[in-house]
Amino acid sequence: MEEYWAKRDFTRTPEPRGEVVSTVGDMFVVQEHHASRLHWDLRLERDGVLKSWVIPKGPPEERGIRRLAVQTEDHPVEYADFKGSIPEGEYGGGTISLWDRGAYETEKWRDGEIIVRLKGSKLVGRYCMIGLKGQAGDWLIFRCGKDG
Ligand code: MN
Repeated sequence: MEEYWAKRDFTRTPEPRGEVVSTVGDMFVVQEHHASRLHWDLRLERDGVLKSWVIPKGPPEERGIRRLAVQTEDHPVEYADFKGSIPEGEYGGGTISLWDRGAYETEKWRDGEIIVRLKGSKLVGRYCMIGLKGQAGDWLIFRCGKDG
């Protein structure tokens, strides 16, 4: 999580410094982040961290909608519990609140292709994420079949 630590001054932000943990979990969280630009942050617990994407327009709740998701630095697992205000002028300055949270199952996870089943309050069902070739970090996220 060197990138996460390097971007933040923990004497100024209330965000947790955190560390990579050895526990295995199946949590996902979506945080609504009123920063300089409103966006939603999707985080999937994996390998002792939260794998993270910025979704400028928010994750789609309905079928047939594809949204851009830009992968960002891994966050500590305890970040799922963070809400509050990051001071203006600090990285990510603005307020963060919980938008959805739950468990998830992994159906596929490889370079450029992730399929998960989310069991949240707002997001329920099978979601596909596809990395865009030649656009490092850019993914599309959308609801994808088989869950009725
Ligand atoms: Mn954010």
